[in-house]
Amino acid sequence: MYCASCGKELPTQAAFCPACGAAVGGTAGATRGGAGAAQGSLRPYPSRSGVEVSEKSRLAALLLCLFLGWLGVHRFYVGKVGTGVLMIFTFGGLGIWTLIDLIMIIVGGFKDVDGRFVLDWQV
Ligand SMILES: [Zn+2]
Repeated sequence: MYCASCGKELPTQAAFCPACGAAVGGTAGATRGGAGAAQGSLRPYPSRSGVEVSEKSRLAALLLCLFLGWLGVHRFYVGKVGTGVLMIFTFGGLGIWTLIDLIMIIVGGFKDVDGRFVLDWQV
């Protein structure tokens, strides 16, 4: 680095030129504050110990499965339309599939169409 007024070499970190006494320009473009892009940390759904929880009601799914399970209504409820339709045609896998779903809902292993667990009892 060299003095702007006399051209002599300056010692590093010198505030003034030892030769001519001129102030060493320290106003070199201050680094533009990196206003970090706001990192959206908002999670779309509540999470319990890392498990994605569906916004669908477990109670509703349970009741639908219990009374209309052979029609796959509980699957329509959680968005699983494809398997819901399949259930209608198979009468809930002759009741076995419906029974399995019912158990899954009770034990908290039933998932919605997005793979999130249906755990919330609140309607
Ligand atoms: Zn100088």
